[in-house]
Amino acid sequence: MGTSRFELVQKAFTKKAAPVETPAERPSEYFGELTFDREKMHKYLDAKTLSALLNCIDNGAPLDRKTADGVAAGMKTWALSHGVTHITHWFQPLTEGTAEKHDSFLDYDGKGGVIEAFDGKALAQQEPDASSFPNGGIRATFEARGYTAWDPTSPVFIQDDTLCIPTVFISYTGEALDYKTPLKKALKAVSDAAVPICKMFDPKVTKVYSYLGWEQEYFLVDENLYAARPDLMITGRTLMGHASSKNQQLEDHYFGAIPSRVAAFMRDLEIAGLRLGIPLKTRHNEVAPNQFELAPIYGECNLSNDQNQMVMNLMDKIARKHGFVVLLHEKPFDGVNGSGKHNNWSLGTNTGTPLMAPGKDAKSNLQFVTFFVNTLAAVQKHNALLKASIATATNAHRLGANEAPPAIVSAFLGKTMTDVLRKLLTVPSDTPIEIAGKKGKSLGLVEIPEIFVDNTDRNRTSPFAFTGNRFEFRAVGSCANCAGAMTALNAAVAEQLIAFKASVDKEIAAGKKWNVAIMDCLKPIIADIIDVVCFDGNGYTDEWKAEAMKRGLDVETSVPQMITEFTKPAAVEMFTKLGVYSEGELEARNEVKWETYSKKVQIESRVMVRMATNHIIPAALEYKAKLLKEVALSKEVFGDDFKAESSSEIAIIKTISGYVADITEKVAAMKQARKAANAISDEYKKAVAYHEIAESLFALRRPLDKLEEIVDNKTWPLPKYRELLFIS
Ligand code: ADP
Ligand code: MG
Repeated sequence: MGTSRFELVQKAFTKKAAPVETPAERPSEYFGELTFDREKMHKYLDAKTLSALLNCIDNGAPLDRKTADGVAAGMKTWALSHGVTHITHWFQPLTEGTAEKHDSFLDYDGKGGVIEAFDGKALAQQEPDASSFPNGGIRATFEARGYTAWDPTSPVFIQDDTLCIPTVFISYTGEALDYKTPLKKALKAVSDAAVPICKMFDPKVTKVYSYLGWEQEYFLVDENLYAARPDLMITGRTLMGHASSKNQQLEDHYFGAIPSRVAAFMRDLEIAGLRLGIPLKTRHNEVAPNQFELAPIYGECNLSNDQNQMVMNLMDKIARKHGFVVLLHEKPFDGVNGSGKHNNWSLGTNTGTPLMAPGKDAKSNLQFVTFFVNTLAAVQKHNALLKASIATATNAHRLGANEAPPAIVSAFLGKTMTDVLRKLLTVPSDTPIEIAGKKGKSLGLVEIPEIFVDNTDRNRTSPFAFTGNRFEFRAVGSCANCAGAMTALNAAVAEQLIAFKASVDKEIAAGKKWNVAIMDCLKPIIADIIDVVCFDGNGYTDEWKAEAMKRGLDVETSVPQMITEFTKPAAVEMFTKLGVYSEGELEARNEVKWETYSKKVQIESRVMVRMATNHIIPAALEYKAKLLKEVALSKEVFGDDFKAESSSEIAIIKTISGYVADITEKVAAMKQARKAANAISDEYKKAVAYHEIAESLFALRRPLDKLEEIVDNKTWPLPKYRELLFIS
């Protein structure tokens, strides 16, 4: 016999917070010490190399081999001073998570000894044997070559003894095999599309940045309890478990005091993150018990996304130091909130003007409204695609399950902006949009309240909400790579901005003043979106589902089906025109998505069947046997009266037998369904078949959870929800 559940619980409950090594310096002093940031570049690179590198980072200028050699030499000196012995190209394949292959600096010196070597070639490119990464058929396994290529816009960093170089990952024939490549293309597309519009307002603008501020939600569970749950270990979520009597109904966890063991973990994580130049800012308890959130200060989208990947890796490692396991799965526990990763998104110019926030004067407000309205138009046109961009087997448990996101992508504007848009439809096109109070009260004026950011109302049910100076795309899953969603969003906005600029140019060519031309082009868009994608009501209701369908928004709930959006004509046209994905890449990625979906459900189904068979049924039968013995004893003592005497026991025995029979039947059916699904070779059709299996997991779960409710607590083999969710 192994350790009993009670011993595990006792052990978990009495664990003390692990000590945290707090640096003597202030965070501002150690912030970024493990990244080769601009400060290090100035320190370790000669003037010529430095200016070439900065020109590459800021303006996209190509880097020659000599410069790369110079950069590598500087990096090596810096890395050696930190005891680094290895380098790795660090990339983001389509597996979710990051990949690295370490090579040491070691090389022969040609004189019989060895040296530490690192040059521009090793910095710029590596050729990992990439045959085992998902590629959707782009690279047949006999052509296993894939390349990783340095992304100079994301600083190199040190992890333990290794210098990590952020890279893109592409096939021998140039197709993207990762998340970073298309994201970078979409970011360039949105900048290229936005700059000509910004130039109408300020000719000095040459680049537009896309910003991302992610809010990472997660659960912590005690590692000993975790290890006693095969479902958590293998699938990242509980496939069974009766609801705890208390879960989140008292709403006493949200923003509550952080337990000391958790606080120690958070401190450790923050110190490690800050050292890596990740500007971690916010930490708090989330809605569900043992659920927490972490958020940095927003930054340039590509870098911020890299930092999110780094943080997810760090969380994993550091949680273990504190006797926890971090759960990044979107729905680890049924009946309490799942975890998302709100993507706060905005655009801003290289001259420092935010484009998603009101400004000081009528001109900047017109610019704001221009970008605001075009973003909404993009979200409306591509609402189904945006939903597809966040659709995975794991996030499916949040979609439509009464937590942002509902399985419909609409946008929340808040009363202020809705009023502004409606007013704009009724006034002459040259009416200035003023900050309230500046020009005195005037009926004709379009006004935005002065204190705006903190004034916007909140709507937790909306998947895409305006929050004063940014949009918050809330539908992104907690374990997702944000790049999937950010690529789709930035591309959709880029496409819309290009079309908008073309229509404005036409109006100007017809003799209109530029600002009137803009407003004349905005008006029909506003009229089109205001009662379609814009929705401020409760996104969880059935009425909204019916209403959304009437409005022509996508209401699909099956993930394999949602994924088809990527290869529909509207998406293909957009992505190929912008140069973000080729049609082949889109097809290949869909194959990967379907395959991943099927595999995840397959694994869940297998684990569930085995746990039902090896854990739950034996426990139920053990308890049943105990009851049967009591009934037999009762017969000995009471003779013919035993039936009345033992009626409760007999009833329980019968209930158990009923559930066990039900489970046995469902297990057999599920195995059969899997067999049939596995025989399908078309990935889409297979995923559709696995979607059915995913749905049937709920049905199998019901009798399992019922048994937990009646079987003797001492006999129950798995840590229960009340233990997993309340010990920290
Ligand atoms: P919330 O109240 O929505 O939970 P948080 O403080 O948890 O807010 O997270 C908000 C996130 O949005 C942070 O990462 C923050 O830096 C980011 N953010 C703020 N302003 C912008 C902006 N203009 N563009 C993008 N992200 C932003
Ligand atoms: Mg938050």
